[in-house]
Amino acid sequence: MAQGGVEKIGLPDSFLQVKLPNGEKVKIEKPMPEHTVGIQLILDSLVDPKIGCLKDLKEINAVGHRVVHGGEKFNQSVVITPEVKKQIIECSELAPLHNPANLKGIEAIEKTLPGVPQVAVFDTAFHQTMPDYAYMYALPYELYQKYAIRRYGFHGTSHRYVSARVCEFLGVDPSKQKIVTAHIGNGGSCAAVLNGKSVDTSMGLTPVEGLVMGTRAGDLDLGAATFIMDKEGLSTAEFNNLVNKKSGLLGVSGVSNDARDIDAAIKSGNKRAELVRNMFIYRVKKYIGAYAAAMNGVDIIVFTGGIGENDPFIRGEVVKGLSFLGAKLDEQANNVRGEERVISTKDSKVTVCVIPTDEELMIASDTQALV
Ligand code: ADP
Repeated sequence: MAQGGVEKIGLPDSFLQVKLPNGEKVKIEKPMPEHTVGIQLILDSLVDPKIGCLKDLKEINAVGHRVVHGGEKFNQSVVITPEVKKQIIECSELAPLHNPANLKGIEAIEKTLPGVPQVAVFDTAFHQTMPDYAYMYALPYELYQKYAIRRYGFHGTSHRYVSARVCEFLGVDPSKQKIVTAHIGNGGSCAAVLNGKSVDTSMGLTPVEGLVMGTRAGDLDLGAATFIMDKEGLSTAEFNNLVNKKSGLLGVSGVSNDARDIDAAIKSGNKRAELVRNMFIYRVKKYIGAYAAAMNGVDIIVFTGGIGENDPFIRGEVVKGLSFLGAKLDEQANNVRGEERVISTKDSKVTVCVIPTDEELMIASDTQALV
């Protein structure tokens, strides 16, 4: 009935963008110093006589929230209770930028819509089925016991949605498939989904591990980390900023974190942009190969996320590098953006698909199911 999002909270040019059922986009600019103001603006827009889809906020029966970190406490979505809120706070140490903001959203709704049930959908939950040998780091075991240092993975809602949706789309039984999902956008991760369950994923304790991303470095030699900190005299916070905000497509190219800008730079002869795109493609390909090994085979590969859905070149290069698995690209079918489609040939041993992700739908359906 309505779709939209608030962006740039905390900056002077924050705004709410709403997509109306007729496809028209409306942008409402308003300074939003913090999340509560954003939530209020969303609710106001829902009952706005011009752009709203509700007559009264009383029509809302339930609210679903994306919560980034559920730690080891949550392996599925839950109805929010005071106890759940306490546990979300306890997971904040693992996601200091996200969980407190998620909680603000929950509390803002409690105030505005008292008594309306709320559901938390965790970005980490889908990956809680990973076996211990996949989620443990080979560090002293006490660090796991003391601080729960292990791999959690993120984008779980997206990996869950596309791995289930692709089976529906292809008409196959999800409990009998070996699927690799590649969610590649500004942030990116791959997951190995065996018979409907995540058994590995490329992000770790934090989202910085794994693929080359818009501004994140992905996999890095730990020795390089301490070396760089020593040489550049960086604090832990500064190093964190370096690998999360200044690396990846942006860091290597020096141009942009956006794949479209990288593409434009390559066309104008920028060698560093070309280098980082090659690194990007290579890393995705390596993870897909690794996950084929993790599951002892792969039946389906899914591309999703801004780049996975919209960039035929990157998809094409990845798939062409996987011919050893029997994957064969259908060049013509691959020439597609933002649409569900099989992009491998009929005789390909692996079915390769584009499935646009829909995390909001997943959150809404979990909420409906639980409430
Ligand atoms: P986020 O991780 O922030 O959700 P998205 O999934 O929206 O990010 O992905 C953003 C990325 O998708 C950017 O690098 C952007 O360049 C890329 N992208 C979006 N549309 C296109 C397109 N038409 N062609 C190529 N890349 C695209």
